[in-house]
Amino acid sequence: MLLDLKGKKILVTGIANNRSIAWGIAQQLHAAGAELGITYLPDAKGRFESKVKELTSPLNPSLFLPLDVQDSRQIEEVFNSVEKEWGQLDGLVHCLAFAGKEELVGDYSATTPEGFARALEISAYSLAPLCKHGKNLFSQGAGVVTLTYLGAERAIPNYNVMGVAKAALEASVRYLSAELGPEKEVRVNAISAGPIRTLASSAIGGILEMIHNVEEKAPLRRTVTQTEVGNTAAFLLSDLSSGISGQTIYVDSGYCINGM
Ligand code: NDP
Repeated sequence: MLLDLKGKKILVTGIANNRSIAWGIAQQLHAAGAELGITYLPDAKGRFESKVKELTSPLNPSLFLPLDVQDSRQIEEVFNSVEKEWGQLDGLVHCLAFAGKEELVGDYSATTPEGFARALEISAYSLAPLCKHGKNLFSQGAGVVTLTYLGAERAIPNYNVMGVAKAALEASVRYLSAELGPEKEVRVNAISAGPIRTLASSAIGGILEMIHNVEEKAPLRRTVTQTEVGNTAAFLLSDLSSGISGQTIYVDSGYCINGM
């Protein structure tokens, strides 16, 4: 069987610019034949909207919607639009995270309660309400994919509260997988990607050292590309991965196998 997403309707969140992992994912889903819905984080001046619209228009998305996951009304409106336009949902890509820059450098114990709550709400909790609203729309065998990082299970310098958020996200993947699997075999999985230079990762203190470290020590002696992550997302949203749910799949040039 070849990878084929023709006829599948997939909602992709988290495109900020052409470096975004979600952009790599959207391109690969489109190449495999999927029909896309794209969401963007709205700002007062509408700059993100026009940037993301221009970037994604070659993929001809049939839905283009604002989504701030901290706004429950916007979440509801996104899924109302999905229902109206598509009537069903075959795939959901959750590719977003946020923590204040000050929380991503120095000591973890310095994390403020506000910073902790915001990072956990946006980066981990948000997957739950998206799945809740998607529940009635998911088709038989639909897939949900989210993005995580090794900092969920190892103490990576400066990753701090985002590591705690990713640990919560990976646990959420297991709980949502258990919840959504029985009725319609909806599968929920995470991709643990190696470090890639993006807007979000530039906020992490020492991201370039993290990348150099992977280039020196990973079995493949390089870090990964957005396209490689996109290919794995396409696989996880296709029928080829029909037996896989609740997993964290590493797309990191093999770095996570290293003892040190
Ligand atoms: P990007 O900055 O390109 O993507 C992060 C996205 O999250 C942006 O589109 C951002 O919008 C969006 N976002 C932030 N807050 C909200 C919110 N409240 N509601 C909706 N969207 C929001 O960075 P990446 O591509 O690196 O990040 C994508 C995912 O990949 C994240 O979960 C990240 O943790 C994960 N990841 C990244 C790795 C890396 O090295 N880059 C490695 C492993 C995992 P905007 O920019 O408009 O604010």
